[in-house]
Amino acid sequence: MRPAPTATRPSQSAEDYLERIQELMEEKGYARVVDIASSLKVKQASVTSMVQKLAEQGYLNYEKYRGLILTDKGRTVALRIQERHATLSRFFSLLGLDAATQQADIEGIEHHLSPETVTCLADLAEFFEKNPAVLERFGKSRGKARRG
Ligand code: ZN
Repeated sequence: MRPAPTATRPSQSAEDYLERIQELMEEKGYARVVDIASSLKVKQASVTSMVQKLAEQGYLNYEKYRGLILTDKGRTVALRIQERHATLSRFFSLLGLDAATQQADIEGIEHHLSPETVTCLADLAEFFEKNPAVLERFGKSRGKARRG
């Protein structure tokens, strides 16, 4: 049986924020409320209230002039989210899906997948990488099926 999610696991939208804050920090060295709002396409007021919640839960520190800093706890979660995104992207790339389709679909499903499913997809990706002939056979059979 799967263990119940612990209380410390962030909500889906909290995961979106942590993922985006980590990305902004990597790109620019800092994450500001205004940048998070524009990249998640939400109002600054929504960002502010989520940021307060995340700060209360110990995921980040908010300093009015320096902006947001992820705590070790926040960074650990953000890196795990990024890793999951990368796994899905690796799998979708093997299937030949283009970057735009991948980005849209991954953002749509990534927060709903259990760690077990993500591990399964990572194993499948690795299997295909180690057995390119199998992947090629899959591609061909798929082509045939579609042609009828
Ligand atoms: Zn993502």
